[in-house]
Amino acid sequence: MPELRKDPVTGRWVIISTERRKRPNDFRFERPSIIGREECPFCPGQEALTPPEVLAYRQNGGGANSSDWVVRVVPNKFPALQVEGGLDREGDGMFDRMNGIGAHEVIIETPDHDKTFASMSEPEIERVLSAYRERLLDLKQDRRLRYILVFKNQGATAGATLEHAHSQLIALPVVPDFVREEIEGARRHFEAKERCVFCDIVRQEMASGTRVIQENADIVALAPYAPRFPFETWLLPRRHASRFEDAPRHEYESLARLLKSVLVRIDRALESPAYNLIVHSAPFNDANHTTDHYHWHVEILPKLARTAGFEWGTGFYINPTSPEEATRVLKAVKL
Ligand SMILES: [Zn+2]
Ligand SMILES: [Zn+2]
Ligand SMILES: [Zn+2]
Repeated sequence: MPELRKDPVTGRWVIISTERRKRPNDFRFERPSIIGREECPFCPGQEALTPPEVLAYRQNGGGANSSDWVVRVVPNKFPALQVEGGLDREGDGMFDRMNGIGAHEVIIETPDHDKTFASMSEPEIERVLSAYRERLLDLKQDRRLRYILVFKNQGATAGATLEHAHSQLIALPVVPDFVREEIEGARRHFEAKERCVFCDIVRQEMASGTRVIQENADIVALAPYAPRFPFETWLLPRRHASRFEDAPRHEYESLARLLKSVLVRIDRALESPAYNLIVHSAPFNDANHTTDHYHWHVEILPKLARTAGFEWGTGFYINPTSPEEATRVLKAVKL
């Protein structure tokens, strides 16, 4: 059984998941190795190589686990957390722990082994976004859970172990550190000014334009004022809302359109780098509405600089590219 442990100094929760060490080619070889087409468990026809699906979209109405899907969601074969059981929160002297209860799923974004998010069509990307939404709405009914991480690692250096385009979802009984930090910051801003900090960012950036990469009716893509990484890009809805899964349909459509062109810009300007894409959204089972001032968004973090060792060791970032320069480069890309 995986276990969640809380660091008594920072309050940060960590998953201790020794089960995952059983997977082949783990940390004995730090060199990233990636599973290609020959052994791909995500290609149509290989459905038996994954656990049975929890959600799939099919255009021709085939049965569950048949190979005519266009998007398919399956439990991770090597889950970091386990679905069954109680949380059994307990103290161990001064320490806090609980069972590693949660869900770990894989969203297989396309049946086409060679497509990437950037090369998919806008409706195909939108379909992936609605699979995220459907799984979020289903999993958040579980009262044991507090947060669902939805993310995508593109490329081996961003942590992908399979070539075939996929995203992951990890449903947790605790709120991850980076979300807690953002919620706390949004709360401080709200208490001081009675405005959402993200709405303020959108307003000021739209007015000045120096860090706006692209925008459409519902979403703005911008380089944040103090980015941790070169070409870090945020996509924010213009309308205030705390939760990704509650967005109206036209916002997913707009998000899909903007994601597509921002990723094409990044691919063309930077020669298809590895990147992480993460959905930031408010925690749920939040009876006191303490997170209404939070504003959901998507962050894209390209893996470019070779300075990773520094921030991993220190938590302090050195970014060699200014966001103004990154904006100029990405805006100049011809679509
Ligand atoms: Zn494949
Ligand atoms: Zn807002
Ligand atoms: Zn964020």
